Amino acid sequence: MYAIFKSMAHKFDPSKLQKLDNPERLELFDPHKVFREFGLKGGMKVLDVGTGAGFYLPYLSEIVGQSGKVYAVDIEPLAVDYARKKAENLGLFNVEVALSKENQIPLPDDFIDFVCMIFVFHELENPVEFAREIKRVCKPLSYLAIIDWKKEERDKGPPPEEVYSEWEVGLMLEEAGLRVGRVVEVGQHCYGIYAMIIKEEPEKFQSPIKIPPGLA
Ligand code: SAM
Repeated sequence: MYAIFKSMAHKFDPSKLQKLDNPERLELFDPHKVFREFGLKGGMKVLDVGTGAGFYLPYLSEIVGQSGKVYAVDIEPLAVDYARKKAENLGLFNVEVALSKENQIPLPDDFIDFVCMIFVFHELENPVEFAREIKRVCKPLSYLAIIDWKKEERDKGPPPEEVYSEWEVGLMLEEAGLRVGRVVEVGQHCYGIYAMIIKEEPEKFQSPIKIPPGLA
């Protein structure tokens, strides 16, 4: 329906992976605070789509804890190698890193509680199709958190014409059958979009997850 959104699909250059692992990136947003505010909790199975250098893996790993698990995927083999080594070196016992395909995540149906896509959505070749794939791997009631660059002039990140506005992302998610919960500012240069995947009527589905999400 929203074919007006032409694919950005400007993929990250893997020769710059090291740049993604720079602690200065913590200035963009505080992952401890933002992931918790988005409702990520101990025991969850979380999927990190487009993990890159695995920069956010230590934070995800810590929050989901011993009873949870982090699945990190990327379409770029160099990124998978980098993130896998990083997880091993840091002893992140609950992290698994795997190679995925553009619109094919190597996970079974109804598997994941929480998906995060950090600075990735604007790189997707077909965002609506990808959001449907997210829905497939997610449990009947689960969450998607997207963090991406604001569509405005910045001194960091891709140019505004290569990213989507919050409004455009929201329309594409809804076209794929996801429900947009809220849109927030997570940092000076980036926004967060929080969506729900609901495959059954919530009143018929018993889940420990609360709507709306957030700190208990
Ligand atoms: N999320 C990481 C971070 O913020 O540190 C990496 C961000 S990097 C700008 C985008 C990453 O998404 C790249 O590693 C790229 O290979 C990956 N990517 C792009 N399209 C993808 C897709 N369809 N599925 C999985 N990963 C994808």
